[in-house]
Amino acid sequence: MIKNAVLVINCGSSSLKFSLIEPTSGNILAAGVAERLLSKHGFIKINYQGNKESTPLAVPFDHQVAVNFIVEFLRQHDLVDCLSAVGHRLVHGGEEYSTPTLIDDVVKYSIKKLSKLAPLHNPVNLIGVNAAQQAFPHLPQVAVFDTAFHQSMPTKAYIYGLPYNLYKDHGIRRYGFHGTSHYYVGKQAAKLLGKPFAQTSVITAHLGNGCSITAIDNGKSVDTSMGLTPLEGVVMGTRSGDLDPGIIFHLIEQLNYTPEQVSNLLNKDSGLLGISEMSNDCRTIEEAIINEQDQRANLTMDIFCYRIAKTIASYMASLSHFDGLVFTGGIGENSDLVRTRIVNSLHLLNIQLDETQNIEVRFGKSGLISTATSQNCWVIPTNEEQVIAEQTYQLIAGGK
Ligand code: AMP
Repeated sequence: MIKNAVLVINCGSSSLKFSLIEPTSGNILAAGVAERLLSKHGFIKINYQGNKESTPLAVPFDHQVAVNFIVEFLRQHDLVDCLSAVGHRLVHGGEEYSTPTLIDDVVKYSIKKLSKLAPLHNPVNLIGVNAAQQAFPHLPQVAVFDTAFHQSMPTKAYIYGLPYNLYKDHGIRRYGFHGTSHYYVGKQAAKLLGKPFAQTSVITAHLGNGCSITAIDNGKSVDTSMGLTPLEGVVMGTRSGDLDPGIIFHLIEQLNYTPEQVSNLLNKDSGLLGISEMSNDCRTIEEAIINEQDQRANLTMDIFCYRIAKTIASYMASLSHFDGLVFTGGIGENSDLVRTRIVNSLHLLNIQLDETQNIEVRFGKSGLISTATSQNCWVIPTNEEQVIAEQTYQLIAGGK
C-alpha cells in the first residue's frame, strides 16, 4: 500500500509540472505537466503506470484549473489518501531561507516580498502554492528554495564590487540558482566516490536551457555562476550570461533601447539563440554543425563551451581539493559534443574523456566518462523532484 506520498509542484509562468513521489523509495507514482497555461491551446500531459495521456483543456486554463485537474486525476485513481504533504519548488528564498520551510501566512508574505528579487518567478510560484492550499487545505505545504543550497557561500563569493550599502539596504548580492540540482548531483557524485558528501569537492555543471556552474567544497556550495538573478554567468539558451555592464548603457544611450527592451534582449533573445540566429535548442545547433558544417552554429557552440570551461577552471580558486567534474541538465546529460568541447579546454586540469563512455552515457544514464588516468568526470542525471519530495517528507516527519 502506498503511504506518505509527496505531491511535488513546480509552477512556472506558463507551465505547471507535478510529480507524485514516494519519498523513501524515490518511486514516481504519477507525473505530468500542464503547458501553455493562460493561452487558447493549453493542455495537460500525465504519465501514469506507463500510459501517457494528453488532454486539451477549455479556456481559461490557469494554474488553479491545472491543479484542480491534477486533484481530480488523483481522486479518480485513489491517490489522494496516500498524500502526506505538498512540496513546492520556490525560486528565490533570499537570505531568509537556507532550509526547506513549512509554508504559513508569514512565509507567504516574505516570499511575496522577495518577488522584487525574482519578479519572473516568485509570484508564479506563489500562485502554485495558493492553488495547492485551496485544493488540499489539510495538507502541510513545504517550500524548497532554489537559492537555499548556495547560502553557504563565503561572503567574498557573494558580495559584488558595488557600494556596500546596496547589499546592506537592498539585498543586492549573488544568490545563485539551480541549488537543488547542484546539491543532488554533488551528493550522487559523493556516492559514486564512496565518500561522505561532507568530504567531497566537485564542480557541478547544470547545462539546460538555463545553465549554471557551482563549486562544491566539502559538501557546501562555495561559489556559483548565477547571481542576483539567473541572468549572470555562462551563455545560456536565450540568456546572455556575463557581459560588460557598459553595454547596457550603450544600448540605452546610443541605440535608444528602453529598459524593458534591454531586459528582453538579455533574457530572451541572446545566448545560443542570439549568437546562432537559429535556435536556443542545443540539438538544432548540433545538427547544423554535423549535417551542414554551419560556421555560425560552430562558433555558437565554441563560445558556449569556452565560457563554461573558463568558469570551471576559475573555480579551482574556490576548492580545497578537487574530486571531479559533474555534467547534468538536458545538455550536460545528453550532448557528448558539448562535453568534449568543454573538456578539451581543461587539459591543464588533467581531465580526459573516454570517447566510448562519453558517447554511451546519455538518455538518463549515470556514469564515469573519464579515462583511468584522468581526474573524475561524470554524467549524473539531475532529479530535483526527488530532493523536493525527500526534504518535504523529512521536514513533516521530523515535526510529527
Ligand atoms: P533542460 O532545460 O534541462 O530541459 O534542457 C534543455 C536543453 O537540453 C535544450 O537545449 C535541448 O536541446 C538540450 N538537449 C536535450 N536532449 C539533448 C540531446 N539528446 N542532445 C543535445 N542536447 C539535448
